[in-house]
Parts: sequence; C-alpha cells; structure tokens
Amino acid sequence: MKIKSVIILALVLLIPIDTFAEPPEYYASPIICIRDFPNDDSVSAIKKTLYIKAIKASITEWDNMLKQQSTLPRSENWKWDLDVKNVNSFSSDCSINIQFIAEPASEKKDLVLGEYYSSSNLINLYYYTPYRCETHRDSSYIYYGICRSSIDLATTDEMSSIFKHEFGHALGLGHDISETSLMNAIYEQIPYKGRITPHDVDKVTDLHPNGFFYAPIESQYDSEYSLDSNPQIPEWIKTNALWWSENQIDDETFVSGIKYLIDQKIITIPHTVQNTISDSNEIPAWVKNNADWWANGSIDDDSFILAIQYLISNGILRLSA
Ligand SMILES: [Zn+2]
Repeated sequence: MKIKSVIILALVLLIPIDTFAEPPEYYASPIICIRDFPNDDSVSAIKKTLYIKAIKASITEWDNMLKQQSTLPRSENWKWDLDVKNVNSFSSDCSINIQFIAEPASEKKDLVLGEYYSSSNLINLYYYTPYRCETHRDSSYIYYGICRSSIDLATTDEMSSIFKHEFGHALGLGHDISETSLMNAIYEQIPYKGRITPHDVDKVTDLHPNGFFYAPIESQYDSEYSLDSNPQIPEWIKTNALWWSENQIDDETFVSGIKYLIDQKIITIPHTVQNTISDSNEIPAWVKNNADWWANGSIDDDSFILAIQYLISNGILRLSA
C-alpha cells in the first residue's frame, strides 16, 4: 500500500478580514470578560481551570509589560485598571470578550488556532489543535489530512501563546514578520512562543501615544526610583508559586525557591525564629491561595512576602534540614 499524504500547512494565528482602520480605544477601566468554558466532556475540569488561569496570567503579563517597559510620559489623567471577569454571556459591559471554542466553524479554517474580531472585540480560542491524521483509504492509498478532535487538546502553554497573540490584536497590533515578535501570523515561526517581546510592547505604545494603560502615579521620578531600589523577585519564583498553588510541584521544591529569596535577602526573617519547630507542618490553604493570587498579579510582592514570613516564623516552612 502506498501512502499519499497531504503536506501539513503552517498553523495560523488569524486576524480576520475586518481589520481595524484605527486601534481600538479603551477607557479608564476596561472589563475583560472570559466566557464560561463550554460543556465538553473531553476536557477535564482541571484542564478548563488551567486554561482560564493561563489566560488570566497572560493578561497580567501584557499589563505588566506595558506598564514597565514603556517610556511614555505618564499622564495622571489616563489609566487602565484592568478588570478580568468570568461571565456566562457577554454584555455591553465587556470591553474585550474571550471565549473557548473546540474548533473553528468552517472547514476552510482547518489550521486556525485563534481569531480576533475587531468589530465585536472578540477573541476565539480553539482548543482542539490540528494534527495529521488518516482521512480515508482505498485499495492503493492511504490518504492523510488535517483533523481536529479531543485527541489533541491544546496544552496550557499553547493556549497561553495563542491568547497572547490574539490579545495583541485586541490592543491594536496587526501581524508582524519580525522574528522578535509575538505577532507573527505563522505559529511555527514564532521563535519564543508565548513571550511578549519589547518589540511588541513598543508597537502598542506607538499606537497609543497618550498611554491609555497607566494608572495615575505621583511622579515619574518616584516610580522609577522605587522600581530600581526594590529587590527583584525572579520570574521563576512566581512560576513556582503558580505551580505549587496548582499542586504541580511539591512543598519541597517551592521551599527551595523561598530559600533562594532569603539567601538573596529579598525576604528577611528574624534569625531567632529560623529553626523553630512546630508540631504541624501543614501549609494552610490560604497560603496556596496567596501564591496563586500573587502569581496572577492579584496581590503584590509585599503581601506574598508577609505570608511567607508568617509560615517561617511559625515553623510551618522549615528552612534547615
Ligand atoms: Zn493574528
């Protein structure tokens, strides 16, 4: 039997035909609505939760990148207090609408991973990813083509990179062939998948010269000074915290990250309590929630550090063997 195969074309991150003439505008407190995940037994409850967390973390990442990397003048009159909501249906309150759909409606869109509709500010995320499959066979040939089904669900990382790209459209970006851009239309050509690059951020800030995304702050000097003087918590600690909150890594791995923070003097602990031993080594559930909120940007570094200090002071997290 011979094999007749259809060449797999590149997976496409599509911008639709109704391309915007002008970038969308957002006012003071845009609400980003994530529609409840559709009823689909092939996707576990955990997977659904992880998808939604990935989306929220990606929104936070865009938000942080825009706030930190731009050199725009920071006007007190402009702000962008993002509010992310889960909704069961979209309403006019939603500035950006996000929904998960198993696959695109039309067969012609076989290779599309996500879409953005500027007319309704809607992002569709397709969670059945295209894969190569046998479509049919006869006495001489096996025919291969593209299929989508629950056999190949998008991973959380894939979902997050697809979303970051589509969200770039929602911020006004078109496609970009640069190798350092998240906005390349061909998924395979994005070298660092899921990374929002300074190039992308610069393009957004060029589109919005008045800086729609800034919360009012007292003065530029103060803000930059305090940014530099604050100890930096490395990004991987946050990733650890997220995974720990989702039980993907154990307490020990998480604690090794905290030890790093203490060694680097980012967290300070009174010396006398460092080796305190308590009867309980249960980590309270609220600490895991805190880790989750912190990783998603809902609480700041200081609040998270306080929680860790509490754990250590009470001998719940032990730092020496
Ligand atoms: Zn696109």
